[in-house]
Amino acid sequence: MPERREDSGSRPRAPAGLRAVVTDIDGTLTDARRRLDPDALGIVHRLVERKIPVVLASGNVLPVALGIYRSLGLRTPIVAENGGLLFRRTPDRIVRLADPSVALRAFRRLRRAGLPVRRLFTDRWRESEVALDTSVPIGRILAALSGFPVQVEGTGFAIHLMEPGAGKAPALVRALRPLGLTLADCVVLGDGDNDVEMLRAAGWSVSFPTGSPAARSAADYVTRTNFAEGFVEGVKSGRLLGRRGSR
Ligand SMILES: [Mg+2]
Repeated sequence: MPERREDSGSRPRAPAGLRAVVTDIDGTLTDARRRLDPDALGIVHRLVERKIPVVLASGNVLPVALGIYRSLGLRTPIVAENGGLLFRRTPDRIVRLADPSVALRAFRRLRRAGLPVRRLFTDRWRESEVALDTSVPIGRILAALSGFPVQVEGTGFAIHLMEPGAGKAPALVRALRPLGLTLADCVVLGDGDNDVEMLRAAGWSVSFPTGSPAARSAADYVTRTNFAEGFVEGVKSGRLLGRRGSR
């Protein structure tokens, strides 16, 4: 196991032999305004050229994640909707891993409680959960749903209502299995509370100074730099690419 990051400023070292990268998209491959960053894309290209699997694990809807995936030239599975959907190639197919009726009941309860919650525009393409914009703070949503059997997770960009037990980590277990991989084989990068579980299960986990407190404390390595720069630093910290292009 890697040594954990310490506040003394010592920099831990990733274990050898990691074989794949799992990455969040928003806030990880993008900046704070969700613009994809050329440096982050460049390092994904390097990983792809070296046949190192890169798996996207996003809270976003599949059409958005799939567009980015195709533009990156990836051929791996995709985890979308915060783990509610798994996309697999050959043949293209979608596996739904969460029951949306649970999330819809929770959403109706919030409306009945008088909270002015708003679903994201992209929820018209969302199949397994409900995602709200952040206009109503997550604390008020949690209070209104206290005791209700629904899972609530914030990404910084949205608040997800999901069936309990759903999430990126369990979806990734299923996504990685056909590749002969587990999360312990992967460098995992993420910045949100919804990334905590996959960060904890990773062989080497990376978050950023802009990550949520929970994501940072779950990570083996918190980068010095943010967003795309942090992504590049984080992938390099996982020692997948070798030194001076030796691999
Ligand atoms: Mg994120």
